[in-house]
Amino acid sequence: MSIAIHPAVDSGFRATDAAFAGGTLVCKCTSNPVKVRIKGDIAHNHACGCTKCWKPEGAAFSVVAVAPTESVEVLENGDKLAVVDPAALIQRHACKECGVHMYGPVEREHPFQGLSFVHPERFQETGWAKPTFAAFVSSIIESGFDPSKMDAVRAQLKASGLEPYDCLSPGLMDYIATWTAKKSGVLGA
Ligand SMILES: [Zn+2]
Ligand SMILES: [Zn+2]
Repeated sequence: MSIAIHPAVDSGFRATDAAFAGGTLVCKCTSNPVKVRIKGDIAHNHACGCTKCWKPEGAAFSVVAVAPTESVEVLENGDKLAVVDPAALIQRHACKECGVHMYGPVEREHPFQGLSFVHPERFQETGWAKPTFAAFVSSIIESGFDPSKMDAVRAQLKASGLEPYDCLSPGLMDYIATWTAKKSGVLGA
């Protein structure tokens, strides 16, 4: 029996449109939904197993990507948004009614400062870049996932084209470490 990774993964990816230039994220509310516009394409789209990301019902993973915060604009019903955890690095702005996280800017000094985390499945448009890896895979256990099924999860992720990692991808881990090394001065700017 296959595991519910995420609807966008399990149903096969929608084709990535090289010309995708952003769109509008819409929450799940049937009336007065929150709408957030993203100008330009998203980057680093991936499945995430952490306990903090918003996931659709029944999914073991979220699908989450980043966009520059300056490209994020709340279009409608922004009064329904509240920050889930003001102490967290990612300021996840969630709809108070349906719970969908609409955007999560990183504002404090960090390699991801200036980026916002978004869930591309909420785009009303298709064509966004498909997820290319799975991050924080072991963390799904913290949400109650059966640890004895982790081999099956990793095998299914690989079969879906998502290389599983227990932190971020090597590219992003290198990016973070490079930022840290430049900040401390062991690497030249
Ligand atoms: Zn909503
Ligand atoms: Zn996450």
